[in-house]
Amino acid sequence: MTGTAPAPDTHVVVVGAGPVGLMLAGELRLGGAAVTVLEQRHAPTTESRASTLHARTMDILHQRGLLVELGDPPRGGPGHFGGMRLDLTGPSPHSGQWKVPQARTEALLARWATGLGARILRGHRLVGLTQTEDQVRADVVADGVHRTVRARYLIGCDGERSTVRELGGFAFPGHDASKELLRADVADVTVPDRRFERHPGGLAIASRGPGGVTRVMVHRYGTPATPRTTDPTFEEVTAAWQHVTGEDLTHGRPLWLNAFGNACRQADRYRNGRILLAGDAAHHQMPVGGQALNLGLHDAVNLGWKLAAHLGGTAGAHLLDSYHDERHPVGARILGNITAQALLLLGGPEVEPLRAVFGELLALPEARTHLAAMISGLDHAYPPGSGHHLLVGTPVRHHHLRTGTEDTDTFAPLETGRGLLVDLTGDPALAASAAPWADGRVRVLRATVPPGTAPPAFAAALVRPDGHLAWVDGTPSSLAAALQRWFGPPQRRVRPTGR
Ligand SMILES: Cc1cc2nc3c(=O)[nH]c(=O)nc-3n(C[C@H](O)[C@H](O)[C@H](O)COP(=O)(O)OP(=O)(O)OC[C@H]3O[C@@H](n4cnc5c(N)ncnc54)[C@H](O)[C@@H]3O)c2cc1C
Repeated sequence: MTGTAPAPDTHVVVVGAGPVGLMLAGELRLGGAAVTVLEQRHAPTTESRASTLHARTMDILHQRGLLVELGDPPRGGPGHFGGMRLDLTGPSPHSGQWKVPQARTEALLARWATGLGARILRGHRLVGLTQTEDQVRADVVADGVHRTVRARYLIGCDGERSTVRELGGFAFPGHDASKELLRADVADVTVPDRRFERHPGGLAIASRGPGGVTRVMVHRYGTPATPRTTDPTFEEVTAAWQHVTGEDLTHGRPLWLNAFGNACRQADRYRNGRILLAGDAAHHQMPVGGQALNLGLHDAVNLGWKLAAHLGGTAGAHLLDSYHDERHPVGARILGNITAQALLLLGGPEVEPLRAVFGELLALPEARTHLAAMISGLDHAYPPGSGHHLLVGTPVRHHHLRTGTEDTDTFAPLETGRGLLVDLTGDPALAASAAPWADGRVRVLRATVPPGTAPPAFAAALVRPDGHLAWVDGTPSSLAAALQRWFGPPQRRVRPTGR
């Protein structure tokens, strides 16, 4: 019980202004929740980190109207599975992978979230956490001064060494790294570009980037991961590179050094009362195939609208609990594919037979399509529930639509973060069924398919704010049931307001 505890300062405290915290802050603001982001760093990181955005993430940025500002990022070329070439073509207007430095993604999301009214407090480190029946108290240190921020919910988006996870009592089962890749950005060296080259002694990767800086990654087969509290030395990297390729890099100028291993852990639950986890705080994975950042962004997009609706009083606990129920299995599946890739990538000669069989499988169109959809996030679906259309739970695909004389599509109306009923049937009973939710929660879009464009695989569909299908081609009464499940009772919305 809180007794005489002061009123909360804000609806939600997000700990961490990394990409996941920033995405979540924007999503919460779209849903009308007041949000304060606490970030220990005084300025955004400029560290070279994740650089790949996959198709599902690009679809989400498209749905939120953020692609224009992102500009026209370069394509990332073909993908890979465990270092074996994988064509990532899939059903998205942004099929493939896209090269966007993490700092740029963060800057984009920070501008978006603050533009929507999120408050970001930099130089604020969370050091303590207490939850009571109706609020969470965050103890924070800023410029050596202790202060308290109270909120109704607190979300840990504070990365792989999450303080929130530790203080919030979340178990984090899994294993530490047994193998590692050393990585360095090096100036003043000339080595051939190498894409997952397997040598007798180990694995070597090199790519020359803009400005003449070469990123090298190297792993010696059979070498265990070194327990580290600091980055590797340049001498470690050059010695491993020499061992694997025979080339000398010692004359180069190291700009950035880093090691990452095949550690794999996942929080056993993503919610403990009023405290939740998202992104690397919820799951720790080897950043292979560029899935780590993308997975976290999708967590944020799943959680934001649900928590905002819960705070608005229209959604019961089931909606908030569905965050764990939907995202934990997706995370577990990605951790599984990353573990499989780590075995194929970092295994020595003993995995060659497995790689040979895998190579044959990857040549089969169906196997390629399956893996490409998994890596790019396009097949990340939530359980539809019994008796529902098979498309329920899957992400809506991009289709051109027309309303009267206006051209639109299935993505653009999602920019405001509201639900969307796409009705191509013209059946007045459907619109009548949805009318009690058309009070700002759900937009009804009666549309046609422009001639010469591919029609959707449905005649009518309800799309959640996160772009996943909630109902497809059912009866008006089943539509009303789906609307009630995801958007609360008819016409009783109290939107949370404030910042
Ligand atoms: C060196 C490095 C290289 C990587 N390379 C790749 C890659 O090539 N491909 C890939 O897909 N992924 C890569 N990753 C992983 C990718 O960067 C992460 O998946 C992604 O950043 C996760 O985003 P996040 O917002 O969950 O956490 P983070 O980006 O870690 O952000 C967490 C934020 O929380 C803040 N914070 C932490 N504790 C506190 C506290 N107590 N109080 C206040 N603020 C706090 C931190 O300062 C940080 O800003 C790499 C990560 C690292 C560290």
